[in-house]
Amino acid sequence: MPTPPLHAAPSRWQAFVRWLVECWSDPNATPEQNAIFRGQQFHFLIQLIPLAVLPSVGLLISGAWWFWDVGDRTIMLSLAGIQLIDGAVNMTMWKRRRKQPRDTPVADSTIWLMMLTLGISGLVWALQTVQVFGASNSDQRVILLSVIGAVLTCGSWFYAVLPQIALAWTFTMSIGLMVGLGYTQWQHYPALPLLLLFYMVVLVWTVLISSRLFMRGLRNELALDQQRQLVGLLLNDFEENASDWLWEIGASGTLQYASSRLAQIMGKPLNVIQDRSLVELLAEVAPPGDDPAQSPHQSLVKALADDLPFRDLTVPVMLGGQRRWWALSAKPLRDARGAVLGWRGVGSDVTIVREHTIELTRLASIDPLTGLANRYQFNQRLAAHFSVPTQVANCMLMLLDLDHFKNVNDSLGHVAGDELLCEVAQRLRAHIEPDMLLARLGGDEFALMVEGVIDLERIKALGARLQKALLQPCVISHQRLEVHASIGVGLAPYDGDSAAGLLKASDMALYAAKAAGRNTLRFFEAEMETAAHDRLELLEEMREGLDGHQFVVHYQPQMDLRTGALLGFEALVRWQHPTRGLLQPGRFIALAEESRLIVRLGKWVLQQACQDAMTWPKNMRVSVNISAVEFDRTDVTHTVTEALRLSGLPSHQLEIELTESTLLQDSESIIEALTELRRLGVRTALDDFGTGFSSLAYLRRFPLDQLKIDQSFVKPLGNPEDSANNRNAEAIVQAIHGLAQALGMETTAEGVETQAQQQVLQRIGCHVGQGYLFAKPMDPQQLAAYLAAHSPLAPPSDAPQGEVGLPAPWG
Ligand code: C2E
Ligand code: CA
Ligand code: CA
Repeated sequence: MPTPPLHAAPSRWQAFVRWLVECWSDPNATPEQNAIFRGQQFHFLIQLIPLAVLPSVGLLISGAWWFWDVGDRTIMLSLAGIQLIDGAVNMTMWKRRRKQPRDTPVADSTIWLMMLTLGISGLVWALQTVQVFGASNSDQRVILLSVIGAVLTCGSWFYAVLPQIALAWTFTMSIGLMVGLGYTQWQHYPALPLLLLFYMVVLVWTVLISSRLFMRGLRNELALDQQRQLVGLLLNDFEENASDWLWEIGASGTLQYASSRLAQIMGKPLNVIQDRSLVELLAEVAPPGDDPAQSPHQSLVKALADDLPFRDLTVPVMLGGQRRWWALSAKPLRDARGAVLGWRGVGSDVTIVREHTIELTRLASIDPLTGLANRYQFNQRLAAHFSVPTQVANCMLMLLDLDHFKNVNDSLGHVAGDELLCEVAQRLRAHIEPDMLLARLGGDEFALMVEGVIDLERIKALGARLQKALLQPCVISHQRLEVHASIGVGLAPYDGDSAAGLLKASDMALYAAKAAGRNTLRFFEAEMETAAHDRLELLEEMREGLDGHQFVVHYQPQMDLRTGALLGFEALVRWQHPTRGLLQPGRFIALAEESRLIVRLGKWVLQQACQDAMTWPKNMRVSVNISAVEFDRTDVTHTVTEALRLSGLPSHQLEIELTESTLLQDSESIIEALTELRRLGVRTALDDFGTGFSSLAYLRRFPLDQLKIDQSFVKPLGNPEDSANNRNAEAIVQAIHGLAQALGMETTAEGVETQAQQQVLQRIGCHVGQGYLFAKPMDPQQLAAYLAAHSPLAPPSDAPQGEVGLPAPWG
């Protein structure tokens, strides 16, 4: 069974009833609204009463005149009497009602009374007609029928505004005529009642349609009125509460209307500003000194001349000694043909918003830490310089990067780092000339841009001045710091003819400066681009090399300087490159660290070294280098335990070597990792000691077993040609050894090449030695032979001697 629709469509009958109801009232309106409608209908109807009554009286008199001798005079006069009383009642109602407002409600009884009087009136007119019709001659009958027809029609139309009254009139009169004439005249005019019936139906229909139309008019008027009231309310509210104001000007530009708020903020009475030209008024309060031709007031004049709507046109004004900003929006008012009659719009004070915007723009282009321009502003300026691509003007871009700034941040904390950056910014700023833009691009990277003629000497001198200014020691967090800066310079249009190109060139120059060592300035050279390209290529190849197992580990022995015994080996990675040959770590470790590829490489070396060490004679240890990056990025403890587990190497046979830069990173977590490694039984060694920043006092905090004295201290030892330097170096090595011992560490001397060096080290008491004197780093085959020769069972005489083949001093 189909389910009935939720809202069944009204039947034809229901639709008709609704149609009928709509002639009377609005079915959607509230009873109160309908009462108002009825009052208004009645009001219109009442206005028509004299127009109906007075002609009726005239008609009555002339009728009496014409038909005096026709019909029954008594009946005629009595009916005329009723009609006069009826008319009098209606006129009384008119008198009472006509002055009242149109939506004064009307009592139902009044409407009933009106229906009654007009019903009676209609009936009486019908009876009068019937009464004289029989006795009239044919001429009189024609006059009579046309007059009565006109009276009936006029009445129906007059009263159609209130359909119940119009219908009372129409029905009583036409039915009266129909019945009366039908009854008295059926043998002469049998078709007359039918004609009258037809006429009545047409009239009723007309009444209903007119009343519906009238009703619809009332409804629309009410809706419009409500809307108007709402808009009025909103506007009132706006005028009373908002800080904005409304204005309207005529075609000539004079103020036709202005909110009192406008007068109030202009400090003038409303009647003074009324009828004044808006543009003139604004010009009067324009800030002094503003160029009138350039001023935003001109844009208002133009906007008005364009005859197009405009939005948020800002104009500056000077009020009470304060500069403020107004935003004006308006639309043209047009006549039916589209000609502009004037403008209507709103104005508002947007000073706060504008000031915020200006402040935000300023903040967006300033580095909040140093107050210098930020990367955004710098890029904007640089882009602006290159905005005319056909003719790139000269421009110098200097990039300045602090050397080892990360160490300051890591060891002294970010607050100290920030303090240092501020100090640097201040010193740099002191050397900046008006035509230069100095910015901090981020981190410890600063940039300086000069547009115009390029004078290489001036740039060099400037770079030297900046570096010198930074070199002056500064005290941050109670520490004396010496700041070194590397500088890279690019020149447009030679080194780059776009913002990106120039930045890239300067960046490459900076990279080269950094690679050349601290405190260097480098100009961009074409070879740098090749070098950068090479680096990228090598990096790509390194990725492939890792996948393709192109790396190998070489081993360099470490000797006990006191007993001459072989203690173990340091693992040193090599890259067997398919086309470039065997590459030393110097070629690729830095690049691997920069690209973080060292994490994968280091892990592999560690695992390989542990595996290899498992094949060596018992208790021989292996030292593996771990980069700062690996400590920074990975859980080294986990990597180490994993390598030990996979290889089965006892932990005490593994030593890891780290550099001072690792210790500087995040001290607490490094200490934690080192403590954990030592707990596992892994030895820890500090590599290249003496080349970094650490003081011996600093060392105390770290759990270390071994201190590897850097080659540079070992080299001068035992050199008879340079005895002063020799003595000096010996004193340093002695001091390092003494302190290491005091801290419970062993020392290893790196780069031992001569017997003389070995003797000095032995005298000092250094525990371990490593260097070409004993053997160069060896590949796996050489290592196997070396081990065979140095195994406790092998005769020392025919021992292979690694790459160099120096005889072992204790052999
Ligand atoms: P390092 O850890 O200080 O290694 C000692 C370097 O000195 C080695 O250079 C070695 O060949 C060299 N050397 C040893 N004895 C002598 C000598 O008597 N005279 C001279 N002039 N040099 C000697 P190599 O193998 O080129 O390694 C350079 C650096 O690369 C290493 O310095 C180390 O910092 C790094 N490195 C090597 N392998 C790895 C690795 O697997 N991981 C990490 N992170 N770094 C590694
Ligand atoms: Ca090392
Ligand atoms: Ca070293």
